[in-house]
Amino acid sequence: MKKLIFFFLSFSLASVAFASGPQYTFDLDLNKVTDGKLRVDLNPPDLMQDVVVYHLPKIVPGTYEIYDFGRFISDFKATDSQGKELPTEHPDINTWKITGARKLAHITYLVEASWHSKAGLPIVFEPAGTNIEEGKNFVLNNHGFFGFFDGMKKMEYIVNITHPEFFYGSSSNTNVQSKGLTDTYHIPDYMKLVDAPMMYCIPDTTTITLGKARVLISAYSPNHKVTSAFIARNITEILNAQKEYLGGELPIQKYAFIFYFSDKNTLSGNSGALEHNLSSFYVLPEVRQEYLVQTLRDVAAHEFFHVVTPLSIHSEEIADFDFNVPKMSEHLWLYEGMTEYSAGLVQVKYGLIDLDTYLGMIHEKLVAASKFKDSMSFTEMSRHVVEPRYHDQYNNVYQKGALIGMCLDMQLRKLSVGKYGIQELLRDLNKTYGPDKAFKDDELFAAITKLTYPEIGVFFKNYVEGGKPLPYKEMLGWAGVEYEARQVTKNLTLGSFDIGYDTLMQRFFVAGLNNLDNFGKKMNYHVGDEIMKLNGTDLNMDNVRDVIAKFGQTAKAGDELKMDILRKKRTGKKYRKKVLSAKLEEVESVESNVLTIIPPDRLTAPEKLFRKEWLTP
Ligand SMILES: [Zn+2]
Repeated sequence: MKKLIFFFLSFSLASVAFASGPQYTFDLDLNKVTDGKLRVDLNPPDLMQDVVVYHLPKIVPGTYEIYDFGRFISDFKATDSQGKELPTEHPDINTWKITGARKLAHITYLVEASWHSKAGLPIVFEPAGTNIEEGKNFVLNNHGFFGFFDGMKKMEYIVNITHPEFFYGSSSNTNVQSKGLTDTYHIPDYMKLVDAPMMYCIPDTTTITLGKARVLISAYSPNHKVTSAFIARNITEILNAQKEYLGGELPIQKYAFIFYFSDKNTLSGNSGALEHNLSSFYVLPEVRQEYLVQTLRDVAAHEFFHVVTPLSIHSEEIADFDFNVPKMSEHLWLYEGMTEYSAGLVQVKYGLIDLDTYLGMIHEKLVAASKFKDSMSFTEMSRHVVEPRYHDQYNNVYQKGALIGMCLDMQLRKLSVGKYGIQELLRDLNKTYGPDKAFKDDELFAAITKLTYPEIGVFFKNYVEGGKPLPYKEMLGWAGVEYEARQVTKNLTLGSFDIGYDTLMQRFFVAGLNNLDNFGKKMNYHVGDEIMKLNGTDLNMDNVRDVIAKFGQTAKAGDELKMDILRKKRTGKKYRKKVLSAKLEEVESVESNVLTIIPPDRLTAPEKLFRKEWLTP
């Protein structure tokens, strides 16, 4: 009986939804691609005013960059019920102003995919963009296709998507009815529409259940190198660890991981992911899946932790996101930094990686952070991050931002004698705030200080608001990890050229010679040299780790290093084969931010205890 009532209820609810109040109705037919573009049709809600303004977003949540999605729109037409065009102005790139709105019956326009657009800079980071690959794949980040009228974002959206036969739409949207080849989505408002990207293609999906949560994994891999089943195994592992980290229960009931694996260089040259409340969207290079394990863990753990910050714990700027007049929060250290720190910490805490690997990650962050302005106030940078003068510092949120997280965690553990760290802090903040209760930007530090210790207020003042360098040496010392800002060592190298990877040719190449050492000079590398073989072994993405590791273990000073390369001829586009060789020699190198783990038998009792409290559950 229960089942029947439920069925009846859901059926009648669906019918009510069709007949309910004002709403946007959008139609998109993925079978009708013209010149790489798709046509969007909108049946707007009834309007009472004479002039109405239609927007596409200037910026979307989680990107911290102005993208102007109106750039990808053309042939905008507004018509009345007789098909007569209404006067339309286009006052700025994201805005259309329609006069005679009372008679407005229909809007239509064409959308070009940001992934292949010639619209120029800024290039949209692919996980936030749109893809139109006729007959193959469609990435619908909805803010690239659908807009809203001024002051009317909180209104129902009905989106009808007609797709090619055998295609399936993956997303976190579960309120969808399918009829023939048309899927009809009911989405409560514009925020939620933007929050749930969709990918249409021939499906490869796997569903896993973790506690009360159902998790969809959807993968598009054009050459079938990566499968959703493989990703699911890795994601299960990391999500189980995250479940424990978050107190034994995942904070969601459903979630979708959507992956696009690219066999070409992306337009932005980047890969990565964008987080949403109930999903995350990934664009990663299509390589043999075995080599994606650590990347998958790192990036999936990061995106999933965004469920906590900023999706649950956030300021008013994020809660009431303005798509066209963005106001940024000063707490990127929390949203991106703590998220990134947690994504690493959870792996070492729950045994997915060992201490060595973990400190390797921290070392990479220390080195990367040293390339940014260390003395800049992190809150100031965060508040102004979309402005050109601060924009080049944004990526430091993943480096120094994570290190702020680490130092805060260590400071808390020190003050509480191991009892309280950022895990406990985030749980407490989640109780104080939450998805429906935002904090005021300028009150957060005081709130955290009140929850914890007066010293934490000083920590924020010095290292997050102020530009004091973080006390790595002192804090890592508490855990028996030695920190040296600079250390001179002697090593065998391949020459210390900058290495690049050409996804199209599937080859490594010499990308730069700025850091070339003495041995590298003897090898006579040229920028652009494509690397074929190292000591007779073909070098590719699949075996590079093993080949380099073997070189490191077996090479001795005086051995001959041979590198088979392809070098572009000075005239024309042809390449010629060359073999570069020289006798290996030790070169002095200055390493920065060197971390040395003191073995357990040499630790003092407090260091041993601190390391345990910091890095074990
Ligand atoms: Zn992030």
